[in-house]
Amino acid sequence: MDPNLQVSSLPGIGKYFAFKLKKLEVCTVEDLIYHFPFRYDDFSNIQDIRNVNEGEKLSIQGIIWQIKSLRSKTGKFLTKATIADQSGTIEAIWFNQPYLTKTLKAGLQVSLSGKVNLNGPKPQLISPSYEILRSNQLPTIHTGRLVPVYPETEGLSSKWIRSKIAKILPQYLIKQQDFLPEEIKTEHKLINLDSALNKIHFPKNYDELETAKKRLSFDELFLIQLASQLRKIDWQTKRKAPRMKVDKQKVRKLLDSLPYELTEAQKRAKDQILLDLTKQIPANRLLEGDVGSGKTVVAATAAYVAFLNGYGSIIAAPTEILAFQHQKTLNEILSPYGLEIGIWTKSKKSKGDVVVGTHALLNAFESTKELGLVVVDEQHRFGVSQRAKLFITKNKVLTPHLLTMTATPIPRTLALSLYGDLDLSVLDEMPTGRQRISTHVVPSRKRKSAYKFIEEQVKNGRQAFIITPFVEPSETLVGIKAAKEEFYKLNTIFSKKTKLGLLHGRLKSKEKEVIIGKFKDDKIDILVSTPVVEVGIDIPNATIMMIESADRFGLAQLHQLRGRVGRGVHKSYCLLFTDSLSVNSLKRLKSMEKIYVGFELAEIDLKMRGPGQIFGTKQSGFINLKLADITEHSLVSATQVEAKKLINKDPSLSRYSSLLKKINNMQSEFVQPN
Ligand code: ADP
Ligand code: MG
Repeated sequence: MDPNLQVSSLPGIGKYFAFKLKKLEVCTVEDLIYHFPFRYDDFSNIQDIRNVNEGEKLSIQGIIWQIKSLRSKTGKFLTKATIADQSGTIEAIWFNQPYLTKTLKAGLQVSLSGKVNLNGPKPQLISPSYEILRSNQLPTIHTGRLVPVYPETEGLSSKWIRSKIAKILPQYLIKQQDFLPEEIKTEHKLINLDSALNKIHFPKNYDELETAKKRLSFDELFLIQLASQLRKIDWQTKRKAPRMKVDKQKVRKLLDSLPYELTEAQKRAKDQILLDLTKQIPANRLLEGDVGSGKTVVAATAAYVAFLNGYGSIIAAPTEILAFQHQKTLNEILSPYGLEIGIWTKSKKSKGDVVVGTHALLNAFESTKELGLVVVDEQHRFGVSQRAKLFITKNKVLTPHLLTMTATPIPRTLALSLYGDLDLSVLDEMPTGRQRISTHVVPSRKRKSAYKFIEEQVKNGRQAFIITPFVEPSETLVGIKAAKEEFYKLNTIFSKKTKLGLLHGRLKSKEKEVIIGKFKDDKIDILVSTPVVEVGIDIPNATIMMIESADRFGLAQLHQLRGRVGRGVHKSYCLLFTDSLSVNSLKRLKSMEKIYVGFELAEIDLKMRGPGQIFGTKQSGFINLKLADITEHSLVSATQVEAKKLINKDPSLSRYSSLLKKINNMQSEFVQPN
């Protein structure tokens, strides 16, 4: 079976379910096979009915003696069955499944899994999972074993997903070659791919599960490192960038004209980037720095040097509003030196020595000048730069230097080991005079006084963000619903004079911009927003960032949200609401009250919760590991060593065709638009 076959073309899935699967980021057969369980229900204990005990989690197998549906006194549907094996009988009960008797009929042999209850002296199974045992029986998948439980979405249960995977997996595996070289498997005692995929979904026991996880997490890290090494080779050997001269005096003059002095970190980053520009190898640098650390001026300096050498630059921003904001800033810095700053967005297009536009412009932009520099400002959506790379390598004689800017606090070790093709500059210092945003974890009982405080701030002319409960990592309808409900609730809490606005990811980008624009113009006092909406906009008048269910966020994410306030002269506050009583959660949140450096917060989360949480999982696009633990140094370094060894041996992977195919497939996936 072709791994890239769309799931919509599979029997039993079709367009209807394919649409739902897409919410789980499953589009192809391979996506489905790599949709791994996140836990397993242990129903491997198969007992004789006579021996079951109260409270036990177990499975029984027997014949349906009788089954009937009835209505309870409250009008609910109840299905009752008596199951018998050689040792005795047990009652099973299901609620609200009137159609169950169409599937489960007296005389059928079944396997049931659940927890044993006592009804008087009689043992009972309440709502057990069930599976009909037929004579040509394959091993059970829903009962009587370690049962895989999958990330689900509305209308797609684990049971459904499990059935589909069980059906498709054997067909997928027939044509699947194991891409991992034999010598690596031997060296690291890794099992074969087909076996690993079978065992991750349907392990017979925990040992099997471990061997599967070991192999598949090795794959994850190995493939990422191999891909980044290959990108680096491609970039450095096949591409040529314009070599520029840096006129130190002119650069100094530019910097002297700024109303502030660069921080040490900015100076260091600026020097590293300007040095890049003097080389023939195209730069591929990541400039990392908290919101407000001053990345723009660093990019502006590089664009100025490109200009002095006769080259154009483009700067890509995530949204139209941010593009306009950049244009204004760059204009202030660079226009005194004769540079024209153009704009390239949906609604406005003008030419310039430097052109600022939205990320979308990368596909359609035609520069009049030869490009020397491409800057991608990603805020917190890492990964766009891969697309930028594709854009700038399209049939060009010269490849522009690439600078990616991000506010995602990616710990240095991590960035370097997993994205070996990037050079890294870090702004680990904030400009002086920045105020500290007074941060408080607010328990539920203080909710009222917090609202009162917000209202007072609003009365004094300030503005506030309220980030609504974090429901799901992706902006599903459930999340939007929660945001809307919160919005209506807040409308009843605050006085009529207080103007509230609602922002969420399902709004059209025009609508979003209108609302953000209104907030910017102070026509909205309190902006209620879902967490996934990028509010990377300068609202100097906003002084409160209030976050609901803060315990569900990664600290780095909270820190980024916090960075939206405190940008003006007014004292600002970050209020973290939580109902959590967990000591660990509170301890974690409390660190926000003391720590104001994104990297440090990211490190804390890395230790306390693992990598997935730091970057808001998939939202950041930075890392999307399903199994591997990037804090496990031995695995990271082992995979790195193997990737390097392999490339040294066979740089074009000509002797490893299935591995090459896998890598190419991965790359194309990586650059697909979100
Ligand atoms: P970010 O890293 O979030 O993109 P910006 O480049 O937008 O940050 O800078 C935030 C603000 O800080 C801007 O108003 C900018 O003029 C100002 N700024 C930048 N560098 C310094 C500095 N060294 N000292 C004081 N203010 C600075
Ligand atoms: Mg910025």
